[in-house]
Amino acid sequence: MKYLFLTCFLFLAAPAVHAEVDPHSYAEPSKVTMTSLDLDLEVDFATQKLIGTAELTLDWHDPDARSLILDTRDLEIESIKAIDAQGQEHAAIFSLDPRDPIFGSALRIALKDQVPVVSIRYRTSPKASGLQWMTPQQTASKKQPFMFSQSQAIHARSWIPLQDTPSVRFTYSAHVKAPKPLRVVMSANNDVKHRLNGDYRFVMKQAIPSYLLAIAVGELDVRVTGPRTAVFAEPSVIAAAAKELEDTEKMIETTEKLYGPYRWERYDILILPASFPFGGMENPRLTFATPTILAGDKSLVGLIAHELAHSWSGNLVTNASAEHMWMNEGFTTYVENRIVEELYGKEVATMQLVVDDQELLVEMQDIAPDQQLLITDLAGIDPDEGLSGVPYDKGRWFLRFLESRYGRDEFDPFLRAYFDHYAFQSITSTEFLEFYSENLEKKHLGKVSSAEIDAWLHLPGIPANAPVAHSARFDAVDKAASDFIAGDLAATDIQAKDWVTLEWLRFINALPETPELAQIKALDDAWDLSNSGNGEIAFRWYVATVRAGYTDARPQIAAFIERIGRRKLVVPIYEELARTPDGKAFAIEVYARAKPGYHPLTQGSVEKVLGL
Ligand SMILES: [Zn+2]
Repeated sequence: MKYLFLTCFLFLAAPAVHAEVDPHSYAEPSKVTMTSLDLDLEVDFATQKLIGTAELTLDWHDPDARSLILDTRDLEIESIKAIDAQGQEHAAIFSLDPRDPIFGSALRIALKDQVPVVSIRYRTSPKASGLQWMTPQQTASKKQPFMFSQSQAIHARSWIPLQDTPSVRFTYSAHVKAPKPLRVVMSANNDVKHRLNGDYRFVMKQAIPSYLLAIAVGELDVRVTGPRTAVFAEPSVIAAAAKELEDTEKMIETTEKLYGPYRWERYDILILPASFPFGGMENPRLTFATPTILAGDKSLVGLIAHELAHSWSGNLVTNASAEHMWMNEGFTTYVENRIVEELYGKEVATMQLVVDDQELLVEMQDIAPDQQLLITDLAGIDPDEGLSGVPYDKGRWFLRFLESRYGRDEFDPFLRAYFDHYAFQSITSTEFLEFYSENLEKKHLGKVSSAEIDAWLHLPGIPANAPVAHSARFDAVDKAASDFIAGDLAATDIQAKDWVTLEWLRFINALPETPELAQIKALDDAWDLSNSGNGEIAFRWYVATVRAGYTDARPQIAAFIERIGRRKLVVPIYEELARTPDGKAFAIEVYARAKPGYHPLTQGSVEKVLGL
């Protein structure tokens, strides 16, 4: 019955239209949209540039429109051709606006007619914000250079002239030439058997928003891990990566059971050099991931569950602008936890919820009330700025709230229907609420009030009636922590031999704001936490050592922040060090060595913290 009802609904529903304007793009999608992109690029490591053409196929909506405005940042535009329906080419007149520090330069192309295609010859700048060019020294094997892209939030415009807004979706194809020993991969169909001949062609037939355009070039090996999964990584990392990620197919099947078929055919994973500034990036068909998830015991593969979840929430149903980011990240964090529950059990999933809830509440103490809302006003604001746990964990908590009120028997099919209904569309919170109202609220009147919905979306903080997760296993950890802090339990007597990562996180989070130096030293002597190979444990521990004034850990801290460029893991350590003159001097000294290996995004974050 339910299925029938939804089918009727799908049939009757009008397509989603988002009238809202994306404040982070100069493009005018109400007048004209790009429907496909054809790239022809040469990767030049000597000059650290991509050189070539971008051909955009256009769909005109406004009969009076005669200009095309694209987003660019630091691109050198050589020439632009307008190509008419007969294939005739004409040079087009264009101008680049002065560069805005956040949004780049609007590229204004004047056209005589509403041509179906424009072709732009251009080259990127070595300082393109969306590309990181690495010397051989900055890679694991130190033999070949490496280059990778990070287009989210608004960096695609620094390597391709295009409509850089998630409200526009397009297919793409690419022809890429690179030095012969290197492999090129993209967020498209990667051929695992491709010869290393320096000449690659890609097709992405599903329409995606610009922030999911991705490319990487380097000394990359590949291992097949399942019928539709493979791992790409540097040769010295590939064996460990393939082992750690061997359950990926199982993860896909688990998610399909919950939310319907995986619609992107393949799910490959690229393990990047350690300078990758994020944990992972959900580039379709090819997730980009930090090597810090390779803990050796699969304890951090939850990150892959997150990136995989984006194949439904984010890549399939996309927020039309960064102001509705909770629809990408909150849904994904919710789905991630459901995948973890299916694969690793309720106990592990609950521990994750408890840690995430607690860390969000702590984080929100330092976030201005207007930045604690799920739907935000980001006009004039760099979408990379002030990225917090709010869209992720408050968004996830909101969905858990709905789940707890309606029950999974209702909520799970609702979510699945939502992904089906808006598949391959970019929508705002308004469309979500419409669908929610029709398919949950009206069917179960009185279970959730609209005031409650408004509180989650439009008020700061977490509503008082939010569901509270409780983990019995954490009760034992909390008891150990309080006994240890009170001096009633020696560090060597803590029963932590079999603790999983989350139990360690809970314990470290339970330490006082300023831990006792002697206690930190005793913990380190007993459990060797300063040498933890687990990045999630290590960065929290290092913060605690800095707060306690435990300088014995500094060599390990230095090694950690020199080796890893993932913002989540290194920025909190820099922040803590910067609180004292001595710590700041140490941080500046280490940063000088670490900087060449950092992505521009990480450099920017650290330099802000250190006042450089
Ligand atoms: Zn995400």
